[in-house]
Amino acid sequence: QVVNYAPFTLLPSAVPSALFEQAYAVQQDFNLLVDAISQNKEFLEHTLASTIKVDDFTARLFRIHMQVLEEGLAQSVFLGINRSDYMFDCGVDGTPALKQIEINTIAASFGGLTSRTVAVHGWVLKVLGKSKEASRLLPNNPSKGLALGIAKAWELYGSQSAVVMFLVEEVQRNIFDQRCVENELWNRNIRVIRKQFRDVFEKGSLDDAKRLYMDGQEVAVVYYREGYMPKNYNQQNWEARLLLERSRAVKCPDVATQLAGTKKVQQELSRPGTLERLLPGRAEAVARIRATFAGLYSLDMDEEGDKIAATAIADPDRFVLKPQREGGGNNLYGEELRQVLEKIRDSPERTSYILMDKIKPQPAMNYLLRAHSPLRVSECISELGIFGVYVRQGTEMVMNTAAGHLLRTKAIEHADGGVAAGVAVLDTPYLV
Ligand code: ADP
Ligand code: MG
Repeated sequence: QVVNYAPFTLLPSAVPSALFEQAYAVQQDFNLLVDAISQNKEFLEHTLASTIKVDDFTARLFRIHMQVLEEGLAQSVFLGINRSDYMFDCGVDGTPALKQIEINTIAASFGGLTSRTVAVHGWVLKVLGKSKEASRLLPNNPSKGLALGIAKAWELYGSQSAVVMFLVEEVQRNIFDQRCVENELWNRNIRVIRKQFRDVFEKGSLDDAKRLYMDGQEVAVVYYREGYMPKNYNQQNWEARLLLERSRAVKCPDVATQLAGTKKVQQELSRPGTLERLLPGRAEAVARIRATFAGLYSLDMDEEGDKIAATAIADPDRFVLKPQREGGGNNLYGEELRQVLEKIRDSPERTSYILMDKIKPQPAMNYLLRAHSPLRVSECISELGIFGVYVRQGTEMVMNTAAGHLLRTKAIEHADGGVAAGVAVLDTPYLV
């Protein structure tokens, strides 16, 4: 009565193989980009300047970032685990194109559960007498790839007795997803503890060298599966976050990398010249990244912002209005977009949002299986995520990989929301 199965599609969904390969091919570039942004104080400061005036959550993260830099970074090993999400935009001639929805730089989840979905869909196909199709499903094991990154960071931290700390929520609905990664670490003889911000507030401490201790146990790596939404924080949790950020422990991600994943940063990246400045001398990487961008627009208080606000009010179905939030269910579409934008168009509040072109994928039929829900066929669209893992020591990248993929599918009547939001379900790509 307390455990449900994770929702999944009955059948794997068709994914164009060229776009699937394109998504894998650009992942290392995205890893480099996120890492470069996280180290670029001026870029983050300049990009988030208007947002932090009106968005308190981003402002608080930003203040921690500034405080840690002023004190001097104690952390020298950096671990990034991200997931770049895409949809297949259907052009006027019907050709699908890979378009990035966003990149998640904190608590990018479902790498664990999705390591098991290939087996589920392979089994279903076999039951249906389609064993040839079953054998064509690609192996996929992000749990291992994620754990290899954490293990590398732990090793470079350089203390055999130190542990990895998963920072988790009080009510943890997605625990099995995390256990998949955790088990991979135990298999490598790395100890894992699971703690909440409250535990850190009560029992966390730093020594003179800013080593982090929990209950007297040294922590090498802090892996956040929490801390990406305003409701994750009260005053004590903010203090705990600051303590972790000041420490020498490897944070996955550090606060700068979390800020690199904001929607505002994503929008600034699409400005001509920005990628070139962030990744100098990497023209090919820049071209691969840019090819995945949809139209993104600033709502800053200037002529450009006025113009796009007016365009979106006149034609809301072309756009998605996004605040600086993660976790699904925060974006605005259609009539609601129009109403909200109309209300805030002349107020600085609008700068806490960005506008993005709405991606329109070609729907396909599938069954969405969810505990306690009736079984019926739905018209569905899918979102492909690629997991990126990287480890940097000082200035040297010692690991940069694409660690696997995630396919999530939802009924077309839901504009927004992922698996955790109760909208999308786990799927497996069937390459065509
Ligand atoms: P969050 O950080 O809340 O996950 P996302 O930017 O990923 O925010 O948006 C949540 C969901 O909204 C996505 O999973 C996708 O289904 C839908 N969505 C977001 N951006 C677009 C877009 N540009 N076009 C179509 N759907 C979108
Ligand atoms: Mg998302």
